[in-house]
Amino acid sequence: MDTSSLPCPQCGAPLEITNRYAKIVVCQYCGAHSALETGNAKILGQFPKLADVPTYLFTGAEGTIQGKKFRAAGRMRYQHKSGFWDEWFLLMEDGSPAWLTEDEGEFSLFEGRKIKSEIPEPDSIKVGTKITINELVISVMEKGEAAVAGAEGELGFWTAPGSRIRYYEGVAAGKLAALEVSDDEIELFTGDEVMRKEIVITNRPQG
Ligand SMILES: [Zn+2]
Repeated sequence: MDTSSLPCPQCGAPLEITNRYAKIVVCQYCGAHSALETGNAKILGQFPKLADVPTYLFTGAEGTIQGKKFRAAGRMRYQHKSGFWDEWFLLMEDGSPAWLTEDEGEFSLFEGRKIKSEIPEPDSIKVGTKITINELVISVMEKGEAAVAGAEGELGFWTAPGSRIRYYEGVAAGKLAALEVSDDEIELFTGDEVMRKEIVITNRPQG
């Protein structure tokens, strides 16, 4: 594992960076969110520590998903009208990043997709319609707004504390599809549902 470290711009503690996909790292001591720039960390903001809601995974968890080795490098929690969900930033054994959403005990594993085509104006996207991005025809089944409520570890997004995202979820060619729109970026993900029993954690702390 390639690990590097930078001093936290707020408290000076070492920020461990274990992967080249990390765009933000959250200091485990003071909670500052820092954007990683060339050889530097720049403070974006701060959150109170994540509320200790029991989740199946944890930052630093290692194990397998559907037989593929992973490590959970960090997570971001999104709050929406009726609850929250966590997005775990995973590093797979081959070094590629993946995102595992955990929403009321249900898991889906997503891969990021480069957006190569025009995308529809987000405000014009309606539930029950189809949108086309790249060659994917996505049937939109849900949309909503969420705010970043907290984060820990390394993150693969630019999303700063307090920022809001709009999300659109649907299906495309038998896969789950999700579009996340923030002030800074638009990201497209495709993935599949994962059964909890298909996630095996091998380094769970005892007790
Ligand atoms: Zn710090």
